[in-house]
This record gives sequence, C-alpha cells and structure tokens, in this order.
Amino acid sequence: MRLSPLIAACALSLPLLSGTAAASSYPVKDRTLTHNKLYRSGPLKPAACMVDVMRRHFDPPVSKTYGQAVLDCVNSVWAAYAKKAHLPFAKARVTFTFERRRFCGSPWPEHAAAFYCSAERRMVILLNRVTVDEPWGLHFLSTITHEYGHHIQTITGIMRAHDNHPIRGTREQKEQSHRLELQAECLSGMIMRSMWPALDSTQTEWDDLVDKTKAGAEYYERTYKINDHGKGRNLAYWLERGFQTPSPSSCNTWTAPPAKVA
Ligand SMILES: [Zn+2]
Repeated sequence: MRLSPLIAACALSLPLLSGTAAASSYPVKDRTLTHNKLYRSGPLKPAACMVDVMRRHFDPPVSKTYGQAVLDCVNSVWAAYAKKAHLPFAKARVTFTFERRRFCGSPWPEHAAAFYCSAERRMVILLNRVTVDEPWGLHFLSTITHEYGHHIQTITGIMRAHDNHPIRGTREQKEQSHRLELQAECLSGMIMRSMWPALDSTQTEWDDLVDKTKAGAEYYERTYKINDHGKGRNLAYWLERGFQTPSPSSCNTWTAPPAKVA
C-alpha cells in the first residue's frame, strides 16, 4: 500500500546514512525471501515504451488513461525482464476508484492512496484531489510503481513467504512488514530508473519525490503514530537505492540490518 501524499511540498535533504551492520533482531530464515532467484537476475534495462510525466491538475479521466499507460509500460518492461531471467510472470491488473471502499474483501486501508490485492494480482488506485492534484506527476507514477513492487513480490513468491513467515510478537511483525514495504519502494525506484529516459522529468523532480516520500512518512508517524512502511529516512534510502543501482539485487531488504528497516 502507499500512503496518501502530503499536499504541502517539503524541501528536506536526504540524511546521511550510516552503513553499520548490526546483528538482526529478527533474522529471516526463509530462502524465498533472502535468496530469491529475483536477486540474481541482473540490472533492469531502460524501458522501450514511452510514458510522459503527467503535469496536469486533477482530471480523473486523464489520470485514469495515464495510469493505465504507465501500468502497460511497466508490465511490458517486466515481462521482457522476467522472460530473459527465467522468472515467473503474470500481468498486474488495475482498478481505479474515486472513493475509498471495500476491495479484495477488506475495507479501504486508512490513509492509503493505493494498495495491492495479491489474491487478484490487482492494484487499486484512488483518484481524488489528494492523490492526483499535483503540478508534477512523479508521485502518482511512483504510486503505481510501488504497487508494482508488490506485484513482483507476489509473482516471485516473496509475498506468500512473508505472509507465512512465523512471527513472535508485534515488534517482529512490524520489522517484517517494513522489509516488505521497503522492498516494494526499492523496486519502485528501480522501475522508475528504467522508465527515466522516456520521462520528460528532471533531477529536481526526482529529488523532490524522495524528499516528499521521507517527509510524508515522518508526518504520518508524528501525527498518527503510523510507521507501517518504515521510517521516512529508510523509505528515502530504499527508493534512492533502487533508482541509483537499478537491479533487484539492490532491493534485498530481507538481509538488511534492523536500522535500515526500522
Ligand atoms: Zn506498499
């Protein structure tokens, strides 16, 4: 799932990241998570499809058409990659909604701009003023690529392994939930890097996305005591990491030290 964006722009800089590896509080002992074939599949090449960045203010039909074009592009990129790497593939599907209502047998997750339904291999994207009305389109684009990260986790068995992973208490549950969400964020950065040559976008817009992602998570943690995706600095770290080294091997959050998945 992806949190709703903040409307106000925040100009924060990326924090310095410490690379100290501490012993994991809750080591993950499942090779589907830690040694998935996905991590041995090499870098993702630039996308062949063209998707411009949506720079239009709120307009549901345009947003819907744009969102579908983005998903078609990502599906084609991942289909080609999966074929070459001998990974399983299925297309992700999408439903756009204008209201928060039940999907996938569950009520709409609070504060979510979108979420992914593994059972249907479908992402559900909310189109309202908060999620779409922006002077630039990278956030909306990144919402789709984040949910696609969950799709990749589903078709590679990672999602099921996470769901079946034994947990002992809420702290461990939280850490494993962060590992799942931060991996989706990293895969999102990787996909956006692949699409980057086709996007009419700038480094400033990218930096702004990273800053807003960080600020948004910090805002939700401060205001609502929500930290189900990981701390803002870690979301920014994994998003940037996927973008800078666009290979699934960069996105193995399951072996990362606890500080990187807090
Ligand atoms: Zn998510």
